[in-house]
Amino acid sequence: MTHKPRPDLLESPYAGLPTPRWPWQRSLQYRIVFTYSTVVFLILLLLITLIGIIIYDTQIEQADRQLEIEAFLARNALQDPLNGYITELKEHEQWRDQHGEPHTSSSAPDADDQKSNSANELQPPRTLRLQQAATLYAATIGTRVTILDPSGRPLADSRYPVTQLVNQGQQPEVQMALRKLDRRDIRVDPLSGMLMLYVAAPIQQDDAIVGVVQLSRPMTYILAKVQKLLTTVIVLGVLALVLVTVLGVLLGRRLVSPLIAMKEAALAIASGDLERQAPIETADELGALAYAFNRMVQVLRRSMEQQREFIANASHELRTPLTNIKLRSETLLDVGERDPALTRRYLAEIDSEADRLRRLSNTLLDLALLDEKIGSKQPPTERVDLAVLLRRVADIMELRMQQANLTLLRSVPNDLPLLRVAAEDIETILINLLSNAVNYTPAGGTVQLAAQVVNGRCQLRVQDTGPGILPEDLSHIFERFYRVDKAHSRRSAKAGNGTGAGLGLSIVQAQVEQMGGRIWVESPPGQGACFTVELPLDGA
Ligand code: ADP
Repeated sequence: MTHKPRPDLLESPYAGLPTPRWPWQRSLQYRIVFTYSTVVFLILLLLITLIGIIIYDTQIEQADRQLEIEAFLARNALQDPLNGYITELKEHEQWRDQHGEPHTSSSAPDADDQKSNSANELQPPRTLRLQQAATLYAATIGTRVTILDPSGRPLADSRYPVTQLVNQGQQPEVQMALRKLDRRDIRVDPLSGMLMLYVAAPIQQDDAIVGVVQLSRPMTYILAKVQKLLTTVIVLGVLALVLVTVLGVLLGRRLVSPLIAMKEAALAIASGDLERQAPIETADELGALAYAFNRMVQVLRRSMEQQREFIANASHELRTPLTNIKLRSETLLDVGERDPALTRRYLAEIDSEADRLRRLSNTLLDLALLDEKIGSKQPPTERVDLAVLLRRVADIMELRMQQANLTLLRSVPNDLPLLRVAAEDIETILINLLSNAVNYTPAGGTVQLAAQVVNGRCQLRVQDTGPGILPEDLSHIFERFYRVDKAHSRRSAKAGNGTGAGLGLSIVQAQVEQMGGRIWVESPPGQGACFTVELPLDGA
């Protein structure tokens, strides 16, 4: 079958979609890439922060350890009695014991005052050797060296005159050194305004602390190293992000391509090309989706074919009686007045054909209603005594059986359960099956109506001793308009929903399924046909 594609459907597949906030939201591929890259970016950010902290800590630790070693060496040299530094420290201590705390830097006398007071005995002893030592160490190890007395007062400094310096006694590293413990401190040096790393070590004589050596180094030196390492990490991170984005674009394209193919297949199908299939490229959910999509289209196609077939069959069945009526009415119009016998005969035939038409249209309507209601019909509230119902149906059919010279056997136990079903539906079903049995069983045969409970379900059986149904017809007889012997069926006048048009069994099947049951037929060669209707028991 050829279909004209509808260009409007092919051109604007996004027309019915909500407007996205960002253009990239139109593409699943870019959504994947964006999400993927954002996640990687956040992970990288976290990693870089962590690495930064680790680098910073290790660098500080390293600088601190180095400074501590240097402080240790400096204080060892300072407390060596041969160097004579202790003497100066001791002198200073003695002087302080006698005169109390000298002026601190904030109130320190200026250079002129110092000169004018040089002879003054209130002036603390000079600390030339200590000053020399501070300068010497600073030059050797490249740090600032300050020597303090045990109260934290600066006695010598490698960079600034001690008069400019404030007491260091309260600084954490000095406090700890006075307790013979290690501790670093990072703070801004008020004189240089620079962030500095400080360590201090006690100078001892015979276990007594006579002074403190304080070393400090600018943090810029350490931070520059941290910055360099961190820059390398950030560059690597950005490279990783670029790589991930490129990979994301490639992977996204692979991932999305089956969906694009499916979209195109759907549009082609919507435009009428029902033969179109979505390619199944992967063994994952997308493959399963494509498979389900193709199955859906297949089912749709079959259902459309069935509908077309149904309409063709229905119009064919309607056309036959209509043609018969038309032929007879035309003849009657021509010669009816002259031939009363023919007129009567044709009128009777027209009446019979009109009846057939009515039955057929009723049956078609029933089928349409059953299709509409499948699965939606609520079970009736009242229960039906099946044994009573089956006996009534058998009584109804008894006369027809006798006329056809058939024996009706009943096998209906009295203890059948009460069923929540519509009595008239069960009656229609059984009358249809029994009518078929009457129609297809030769005179002298037997028809059996039986009921029993099997595995918690109620089974109703109609079995005859007729010619049965050939295996090749068995799977088709519940199809609409299917007849085994078309000529025979067309001729037979039937009770119930039967019209001789091959609709009776399809109606029966639809009714049984609507009750939540099922129907099947068995026809072993030479043993007639046996139709079984199985219904769920109450609450099953
Ligand atoms: P129809 O209304 O034309 O009888 P049905 O749907 O009732 O259509 O039956 C379909 C076909 O099944 C019939 O054409 C007939 O050949 C076959 N069939 C139905 N019941 C029996 C039976 N008891 N024995 C043999 N064939 C049967």
